[in-house]
Amino acid sequence: MLWILASLFFIWCAFREIRGSIVAPAGFDSPRPVEKPYLALVLGLAAALAWPPVHTWYFQWFLSRKATELADEHRARVHCNSLFDTMLDPHMLASGHANPADGRIVLQKPWCGTLMAYLRHPGRASRAELESLDIFTHESMHIRGELNEARTECQAIQRNYRSAKLLGVSDAIAKQNALDIYNINYQERGKIGGIQSAYYSDECAPGKAMDEHLIDSTWASP
Ligand SMILES: [Zn+2]
Repeated sequence: MLWILASLFFIWCAFREIRGSIVAPAGFDSPRPVEKPYLALVLGLAAALAWPPVHTWYFQWFLSRKATELADEHRARVHCNSLFDTMLDPHMLASGHANPADGRIVLQKPWCGTLMAYLRHPGRASRAELESLDIFTHESMHIRGELNEARTECQAIQRNYRSAKLLGVSDAIAKQNALDIYNINYQERGKIGGIQSAYYSDECAPGKAMDEHLIDSTWASP
């Protein structure tokens, strides 16, 4: 919001400059020519300040479409929380949360940024970047209507391959990333215990009780 206000201020400066070249400004007898370097500067600043919110809005729109697809066409709306939103969020400590009743998915700071970074270089994804993909898929599974955390997470584990491909990652890298999340991030969660164990089940494995036998499952053989 602050970015937009700052951007609007510079648009107003540009407007005032152009108006001054058409109508004589107060205290002047005739219009004065536009100062081109000044106009270029204020327009450049306006565009630069508008970019971060416009980029976030675009990313939220993109993620909303993909989350809707992952949620079997249950309508999802993704919101990337700013630091300020996160501080005011009652679920501040969770990485994200989702409400199947209204389709709203909230990703806390800094997870949208981490997911953007992942999508820039999926071939060398860090642990946190892989985690951001899993969080996005997990919240999309809640929009399908699942509320049990262990089942939601297992549905996400099986769909991270599909999810990465929907977000534009190439097939082979998507498969590897999804398998890494299952074999490394997920198995570690089981070992840590505590809150993390609510998101883990040893029935979440090929052929076990939680296997949905999806044709494009993360662990399905090609
Ligand atoms: Zn959850």
